[in-house]
Amino acid sequence: MVDTDITILGGGCAGLSLATALVSRGAPRRSIRIVEPRTTYERDRTWCFWDVEPHLFEDAVTHRWSRWRISHGGDTIERGTDRHRYVEVSADRFYEVCLNRLDRTPAIELSLGERMTGVSREGKDFCVDTSAGSYRSRLVFDARAGAALAEAEAARIRSDRDGRLSQHFVGQFIRTAEPAFDPETVTLMDFDGDASTAVHFFYVLPYSRTEALVESTYFSPHSLPCEAYEEDIARYLGARHGVRRFEVTGSESGRLPMFDVPICPLAPGVIPIGLAAGACRPSTGYAFLAIQRQAKRLAQALAREGTLSPAAVAETEGISRPSILRVMDRILLAAIQRRPTEAPVFFYRLFESADPAALVRFLMEAPRASDVAEVIRAMPGLRLLRAMLPEGISRRMAAT
Ligand SMILES: Cc1cc2nc3c(=O)[nH]c(=O)nc-3n(C[C@H](O)[C@H](O)[C@H](O)COP(=O)(O)OP(=O)(O)OC[C@H]3O[C@@H](n4cnc5c(N)ncnc54)[C@H](O)[C@@H]3O)c2cc1C
Repeated sequence: MVDTDITILGGGCAGLSLATALVSRGAPRRSIRIVEPRTTYERDRTWCFWDVEPHLFEDAVTHRWSRWRISHGGDTIERGTDRHRYVEVSADRFYEVCLNRLDRTPAIELSLGERMTGVSREGKDFCVDTSAGSYRSRLVFDARAGAALAEAEAARIRSDRDGRLSQHFVGQFIRTAEPAFDPETVTLMDFDGDASTAVHFFYVLPYSRTEALVESTYFSPHSLPCEAYEEDIARYLGARHGVRRFEVTGSESGRLPMFDVPICPLAPGVIPIGLAAGACRPSTGYAFLAIQRQAKRLAQALAREGTLSPAAVAETEGISRPSILRVMDRILLAAIQRRPTEAPVFFYRLFESADPAALVRFLMEAPRASDVAEVIRAMPGLRLLRAMLPEGISRRMAAT
C-alpha cells in the first residue's frame, strides 16, 4: 500500500513545471506530492528565452522584446524578428501562477518546509525519507538541481584541476534618476574590452528608461567574490550608460555548468528532471524551454502508463538534445576555453551574419534542418574557429 503515487523532490522550476504539465491534462488521477524545503517563494531568478514554441506559462510572461543587440570593441549590431520574441518570466510570477493552479487541484500536495533526506527502493515502490517523516511512493522524480550541480562540480574538480568552464553571474535590478536605458532592445552581450583571460560581458534587460536588470557574466572556471561583479556593474553603468548614481532594488546570481552534467540517479529507478537531468544547455545556460519539453513528455507518458513503472516512464525521461547540437557545443566550448579573447568576435559575427529567426531557434534547441545549415554558414570563418581550437581538433578539421 503506497501513501502517494508520485513524489517530486524539489518544487523549483522543473518540479513545478512537471506538476503543472500533469494538471494541464485535466484533474490527475494519481496523488502527487511535491517536497520542497523553502517555506516561501520569492523572486530568486529571471527566466528569459525566445518564444519559439508554445508553453504553459504565457500568463507568467512579464516582458517581451523584439530586438536585441551585441556590442564589442565599440561596434554594436542590432537584430530582431517579430516571429520569435525574447520573453521574460520572472520567478515570482512563475511561482504564483504554479501555486494558483496547484492549489485548485486536490490530488496535489505541496509540502513546503520539508527536505528529502534519503530515498531507497522497497520492492516495486520507493521509501522516501524527509525532514517530516517517511512514506512510500510508487514513482519518484528528482528535481533538486543543487545536488546534481554539486556532483558535477566535484566531478569537474576531480577530472580537471584547471577546471572546465562555468557561466557565473550576478545581476542587479537598477533604478536610475535620469533616463539611461533603451526599453525596446535587450543587450544580450556587451563584451568587456579589458577581459583577457575570461569571456566577460554585460547582459541588460531594460524594463523602462530608468529600470533594468544588469548582469555581469563570465565564462570561466572560477567564480569571483560577489563584490567583484557588483563593481563591474557600477563601472559598466558609468562608462556605457553615463550613470553615476543608481539604486539597487534587488539582485540574483547563478553558476551554470558549461559542460554535460553527469546524471546521477538518487536511487535505481528515481527519474532526474530539470538541471539534474542536464536541461541546461552547456553553450548558452538556457534551460527553461528544455524543462518545459521534458515536463510535457513525462506528463504524456504518465497519462499513457497504467502501472506507473519507473522503467516505462524513464524511456521518455531524457533531455532530448539533437546530437548535432551536442557536437557543435563541444567544439565551440573547446574553442572558447582555449582562446577566450577570440570569443567576442565569434559571437558578434555570428549574430551579425545569421538569419535572426534561424539563430534563435538554434539557440533554443528547436532548429529546423535549414536553421542548422544557416548557423554553420554564418559561423565566422573557419580560420577563426580553428585558431581557437585545441590543436588535435584543429588538425582533424583541417584534414576534412
Ligand atoms: C539566477 C539564474 C538565472 C537563470 N536564468 C535563466 C534564463 O534566463 N533562461 C533559462 O532558460 N535558464 C535560466 N537559468 C537556468 C535554469 O533555467 C534555472 O536554474 C532553473 O531554475 C532550473 O530549474 P530546476 O528545477 O532544475 O532547479 P531549481 O529551480 O533550482 O529547483 C531545485 C529545487 O530543489 C529544491 N531542493 C533542494 N534540496 C532539496 C531537498 N533535499 N529536498 C527537496 N527539495 C530540494 C530547491 O529548494 C529548489 O526549489 C537561470 C538560473 C539561475 C540560477
